[in-house]
Amino acid sequence: MSWEPVVGLEIHVHLKTKTKMFCRCPVGFGAAPNTQTCPVCLAFPGALPVANRVAVEWTIQLGLALGCEIAEHAVFSRKNYFYYDNPKGYQISQYDLPLCTNGNVLVPGSDGDLEVGIVRAHLEEDAAKTVHVGGRAGRSQGADYSLVDFNRGGTPLVEIVTAPDIHSPDDAKRFLQLLRQAIVELGVSDAEMEKGTLRVDANVSVRPAGSDELRTRTEIKNMNSFNFIARGIEAEVERQIAVWESGGTVEPQTFDFEASSGTLTPRRAKEEADDYRYFPEPDLVPLEPARELVERLRAALPESPVTRIRRIESELDLERATVLVTGGLDALWSETVAAGADDVAAANVITNNLVGAGVDPGEVSPEELAKLVSARKSIPRPAFDEAVAKLGDPDFSADPYLAQEAVSDTAEPEPIVEAILSANADQVDAFRNGKHGLLGFFVGQVMKETQGKANPRIVSELVREKLSG
Ligand SMILES: [Zn+2]
Repeated sequence: MSWEPVVGLEIHVHLKTKTKMFCRCPVGFGAAPNTQTCPVCLAFPGALPVANRVAVEWTIQLGLALGCEIAEHAVFSRKNYFYYDNPKGYQISQYDLPLCTNGNVLVPGSDGDLEVGIVRAHLEEDAAKTVHVGGRAGRSQGADYSLVDFNRGGTPLVEIVTAPDIHSPDDAKRFLQLLRQAIVELGVSDAEMEKGTLRVDANVSVRPAGSDELRTRTEIKNMNSFNFIARGIEAEVERQIAVWESGGTVEPQTFDFEASSGTLTPRRAKEEADDYRYFPEPDLVPLEPARELVERLRAALPESPVTRIRRIESELDLERATVLVTGGLDALWSETVAAGADDVAAANVITNNLVGAGVDPGEVSPEELAKLVSARKSIPRPAFDEAVAKLGDPDFSADPYLAQEAVSDTAEPEPIVEAILSANADQVDAFRNGKHGLLGFFVGQVMKETQGKANPRIVSELVREKLSG
């Protein structure tokens, strides 16, 4: 029997507002622990919350970007739980009346678009950061002691919940890359997984392919890159298939994914379902965003990454278009092509060489880049790489590099080509017997011998000529 994975995601996004969700403490990283706090976010008796207007507007805008309906009446609720990262004994969140509902995001794919439903996007406050010292790294169980930093407590957080519409680890990754890019372009969050400003949990189940049942799902937490998320989902899908196929039953469970070993570690099983005893927060008025405000925010939305992928796909292909757009590189690509570079060559140089060299695309002059792209075959490889690495420098000029023409005279590499071929008789036989992938090996050897000065196109023609003779 073949199985279909069923995956829903829960995404938490830190908003980069200047101040916290319900008080005027600054939001930010790197300050000394417990210095960005006040009576409200430390829950002193009698302190009252006031909602951050910018956070509400940004959440509406994010909801609009996800195709959501914006509630005319949304309510903050208390989610009660007792833990030391939460001084109030409850988190202010949204429950039955969230700000954004019923959205959807299209993920362009090679065999049709994937439509991912957005169940809700709501606004809440983050908990404080805990650090567990001793014992197994990062875990509270077995730690010698735990420290709490309340600087993060009260940071505005948007929780986005998708429908279980995702059916492969790769689709989960592509959806998240698009979502992240849309969030970054809205300017509401840096959405960096390494810093914890974007956090993703995955709910995973499997079902016989072709059925529409929903079987017991499990949850995976603590995945801190898109690749780890894909690998975590893959590992859990395999585990569940093995359980069902051996006649067992998948139990509801929560796992941590450990990327180094690729394993899933179960958290202690919950003895009973969470009961957060939600009730409306009596200290805050309901949110009733004016329709003019919603329409003004809608009109201010930038062109979506999906729309740009579609447009660029028609000029390149889906794969390149997706890499350019989700990497925030498509504006530079368009300008470089407009400055005269070949579109495919420009895409390749930007997504491989430029990104590989760690150059900030925002600092690159499209005109200079276009010159380099056009001359990439006629200048020596080391000079080209050096030029690409310096593209982000102020006042960078491609001209000195363009002046370094490669050694293009066929007479010069020819003896080297012959020497390489006679030194590798086995590979020559293999090539002649159809292993044409070896061409790259011969060219590589010649380039090494000439310290990168030969023109690879001419070398490859020479090798081909000699081997067919
Ligand atoms: Zn505060």
